[in-house]
Amino acid sequence: MEASATATATRTLLLSQGFEPIKVISWQRAITLLFLGKVEVIEEYDHDVRSVSLVIKIPAVVRLLRAFRRHAKPVKFSRVNIYARDHYRCQYCGRRASISELTYDHVTPRSQGGRTEWTNIVTACYECNRKKGGRTPREAGMALLAQPVQPNWVPAVTIRISMRSIPDAWRDYLYWTGDLSE
Ligand SMILES: [Zn+2]
Repeated sequence: MEASATATATRTLLLSQGFEPIKVISWQRAITLLFLGKVEVIEEYDHDVRSVSLVIKIPAVVRLLRAFRRHAKPVKFSRVNIYARDHYRCQYCGRRASISELTYDHVTPRSQGGRTEWTNIVTACYECNRKKGGRTPREAGMALLAQPVQPNWVPAVTIRISMRSIPDAWRDYLYWTGDLSE
């Protein structure tokens, strides 16, 4: 499909079946969902997209036709999701830090059979990570803020949209926070 430069940058607001904003998706994704029969178009932009066989208006707001299950998938085991679970806080000294200042730590070190999994990995600052070394918290005399668990939420990576950049077509469907989860 071809579209103008403006259209290429256009994003579509995805609503749940209950009209709650879920996330912002690309218009291409919105059209794919539409063709798959997963969404209905609630609002359209003025510009079209053209393919060989059809011309359609770019969807501005689409709504899922089926219930959206937030907990359908297990949370992906990744560095960023570990930080999110631990609220970007070193689990030893409690200091909050940015991603670049954080690392992850094997609670039971690998050298002692500790596995790389949710329940054995915590967020740590570099200093605590170094101090702890290849020891257990007990051996190192460093207490954990909380026992690491496998999370069951969908980590919300918040994207911020300034009020000015919110398309008019979305306004009725946002709750004026300006924040959406992507
Ligand atoms: Zn620390």
